[in-house]
Amino acid sequence: MAERECDFAPLVFRLHGGAPQVVREVLLERGWDEYDEEEQEEGDWNLYWRSSGFRKSDYENILPWQRLNHHPKMSQITRKDCLARHMRRMKIAFGTGLYDFSPAAFILPNEYTKFLGVYTRNRMTDRGKSRYWICKPVDLSRGRGIFLFEDIKDLVYDSSAIVQRYISNPLLISGYKFDLRIYVCVKSFSPLVIYMHQEGLVRFATEKYTLASLDSLYSHLTNTSINKFGMCYAMDKERVGRGCKWTMSRFRSFLHKQDINELLLWHRISNIVTLTLLTAVPCIPSSPNCLELLGFDILIDASYKPWLLEVNHSPALTLDCPADVTVKKGLINDIIDLMNYRMVDSFRQKGYCRKRTGRRYLRPNISQGFLLPKILHAPPSGNKSWNQSVSGSSSSEDTRNNTGYATCPVHPNSKSIGHEKDPQKFEEINNELGSDDLKLTTLNSTRKLHRNAPSTVCKLPSLRLHKLKAPAVPWNRVTQDRGVPPCRVGDFILTFPFNQATWKACQDQADVKAIVNEVHKLTNRLVSSFNEKERTKMESSQSIGISDKFEPLLWGPKDPPLLSKCCSLNSEVK
Ligand code: ADP
Repeated sequence: MAERECDFAPLVFRLHGGAPQVVREVLLERGWDEYDEEEQEEGDWNLYWRSSGFRKSDYENILPWQRLNHHPKMSQITRKDCLARHMRRMKIAFGTGLYDFSPAAFILPNEYTKFLGVYTRNRMTDRGKSRYWICKPVDLSRGRGIFLFEDIKDLVYDSSAIVQRYISNPLLISGYKFDLRIYVCVKSFSPLVIYMHQEGLVRFATEKYTLASLDSLYSHLTNTSINKFGMCYAMDKERVGRGCKWTMSRFRSFLHKQDINELLLWHRISNIVTLTLLTAVPCIPSSPNCLELLGFDILIDASYKPWLLEVNHSPALTLDCPADVTVKKGLINDIIDLMNYRMVDSFRQKGYCRKRTGRRYLRPNISQGFLLPKILHAPPSGNKSWNQSVSGSSSSEDTRNNTGYATCPVHPNSKSIGHEKDPQKFEEINNELGSDDLKLTTLNSTRKLHRNAPSTVCKLPSLRLHKLKAPAVPWNRVTQDRGVPPCRVGDFILTFPFNQATWKACQDQADVKAIVNEVHKLTNRLVSSFNEKERTKMESSQSIGISDKFEPLLWGPKDPPLLSKCCSLNSEVK
């Protein structure tokens, strides 16, 4: 069993029935304890993980040491009809050019006549060329209730559904359709902070793609929940292999071998993620200490254009195959790292409050901003600009030990670890917390800390501290100044904000228009740089300054390793 993160005060997780088993597994491996309602007091937990959403009161009563795995109102983008509505609104506001990644969609039954109009017009202009549509129930998932049609006579539905243009020219690998499951973590909506995971899954259909039979779900749908029941699932399929999943690394290795410019593709996908989440920013209330893991389903067409199919709330975390194990265990570890627990969190109410009334804890008298995890939202040191902060926080070094966890040697800047050896540092934390209620100093707890001072290796917090510089100046609670988030946490790459302008534009009331303009500007510059590169056949992207200007937009902070080099031999594409 892996070493405990901290022997003297394990963090505590609480899982709601139906929460994925792998979350429990990873947390136990990291030395966390599971919350026991019978034994433990109300509020005596650090992480509450649910597959479904939380109640309003859960958000209202959240305490400083706690985190929730959902933001409120996420159905704004995870319900198919809401997403379609937002996409349409954004297309009208910012032009179909920028929001061209979302296939046209109609919400039934309300928009049936609208759909009929478009369908009829297409029929007349297409002159015999076929056009296909896909109908999906709005509130189902895992491919349930989905069907394809060409003729409107075949459109039959008995519940609310969306009809979406079917992308009928998907990129195929050896004749098999696939889509990408991209894992995205929204650290906060106000300001908007987005991380994309470097790993992810490629999900294949298990029968060869053909438009001749629209009712063959095994050739048109890429859901694992469907394909694992297909006849060909266990067969060794040409290039694809057995099963129906690849890791993203394997896919990127495949692209490298085909000499495909994957960085541009990732950049486009990252834009899709940002532009999609932007649509929800005005509707999602600011909720500190919450974090959302979303699954973006992206289909790439034969011209390498990525399309957004849907955004999944609570993406499946079941472990069906080796690719799942590789991707999902790492993903959960990285999510936990992004939650950025501090040592004081492990003491929970003992650390933060001294007064109790009955079973209800008094909420500490602190500003909302304080509840934001400290390191991720620490102010930049001195007058550091965006660029300085970003470059200062990136490094190609990797602190992962062979257990797969980040280990944290006592760090000179760290207030979260190491201070157990130094009572002065401990006092500093108390001063920083500011309120009497928050002080950690009961003699007992201090003694306990000293008695159990860990060895030089402590896994709390398991962030890569060399990348995440602790603040050199105290956090300004008056202005609630929050610094630039780290560029990379584990395999999570910061994709938004990506420069000074977007950082400014997403503070307080997000300036969606300014952000959209920035995305637009950078995309154009990036595309022309890549075109230039293609034209002049320059060897290195550095020589045209891409890495300087667009580095955080790319797939990794600095000199991202070619995943083809990281792939193990047996995962190499044949
Ligand atoms: P669900 O939530 O039920 O999984 P999705 O929207 O993800 O619904 O669709 C399921 C699958 O159907 C996708 O993984 C993809 O393979 C296929 N699909 C969905 N929409 C389209 C589309 N517009 N064009 C092509 N294929 C699609």
